[in-house]
Parts: sequence; C-alpha cells; structure tokens
Amino acid sequence: MSLWTRHKPCPSCGRSGTGRIKCSNCQTVGCTNGNCEIGGLNRWCPICRKETKKVRL
Ligand SMILES: [Zn+2]
Ligand SMILES: [Zn+2]
Repeated sequence: MSLWTRHKPCPSCGRSGTGRIKCSNCQTVGCTNGNCEIGGLNRWCPICRKETKKVRL
C-alpha cells in the first residue's frame, strides 16, 4: 500500500501521509482518512452514494 506524499497529496482532501484508496464503484481516488471526501475506509462512499469496496492502491 502506498501513501500520498507532500508532493502528491490526496486529490480529494489534500492530505499527505495517508493511505491511497480508490472506490471500486466510481473509481474516485482518495485516502484512508475518515474526513476525506471519499469517506475513508468506510464501506459507504459519499461520492457515488453507494455501499462499495475501497481498494488500497
Ligand atoms: Zn483524502
Ligand atoms: Zn464511490
């Protein structure tokens, strides 16, 4: 699993040092932080508003 870096922060919330994840439904890329737009590792994705699986990149 890779992390977002300061040079390449999470595109959804701008944080760095957090794990890179992707919603397997809408393909939105985000991070494991619970405050991230994608909802962290929660099974619910606020972007596509569906129960989904977040895969670690
Ligand atoms: Zn994020
Ligand atoms: Zn989604």
